[in-house]
Amino acid sequence: MTSLRIGLTGGIGSGKSTVSRAWVGLGAALVDTDAISRSLTAPGGAAVAAVARAFGPQVLGADGQLDRAALRQRVFSDPAERRRLEAILHPMIGEEVDRQASAALRARAALLLFDVPLLTESSRWRDRVDRIVVVDCPEPVQVERVMARSGWTAAAVQAVIAQQATRIARRSIADAVVFNGAQTSLQALERDVHELHAAWTGADRR
Ligand code: ADP
Repeated sequence: MTSLRIGLTGGIGSGKSTVSRAWVGLGAALVDTDAISRSLTAPGGAAVAAVARAFGPQVLGADGQLDRAALRQRVFSDPAERRRLEAILHPMIGEEVDRQASAALRARAALLLFDVPLLTESSRWRDRVDRIVVVDCPEPVQVERVMARSGWTAAAVQAVIAQQATRIARRSIADAVVFNGAQTSLQALERDVHELHAAWTGADRR
């Protein structure tokens, strides 16, 4: 049995996690690159020592763990610093992605869902998946959702959006677009996921 590898992407607050949860509900095995990245830099994470060595004590909290807000601040507006952090994290993320994907294949998952926020920006990632699904959402709705979900200011959300791929660029690499605007109910979103799942896996065919 071959597994279908789907890359799921979308801007911050577009509804990626909501879509991926719906897909997991249909039996997909999820490999969440954001969660992997977070766990690497969380207290006790495998990347903590290497990042601390590279960036110095300014990015460490009193507890000796990474001060992730300070780290984010440091790399946010400095592309060279960001590349330095990525050079440490990306190979580690890649290893963990491979490990989780192999485990899912051994468990005979019919569908592997890779949640990759920066998939549009990464040709390497695009080559690793069979299909690309983009969650598309107007920017004002992204801003509202992240303010409500994470308590960020509008300016903070807009600054992240400005650094991410544009909606047009994302949609141009999509095999399927799931629209998740202000009027889209969670039920309608789930229905779209269900339809895509059925079309691509033949799950509803008799
Ligand atoms: P992402 O993973 O792309 O950053 P999330 O899936 O976390 O986005 O969605 C951002 C927030 O918006 C979450 O709190 C989520 O529950 C909410 N949300 C997403 N889509 C909808 C929707 N169609 N209706 C209501 N709330 C939604």
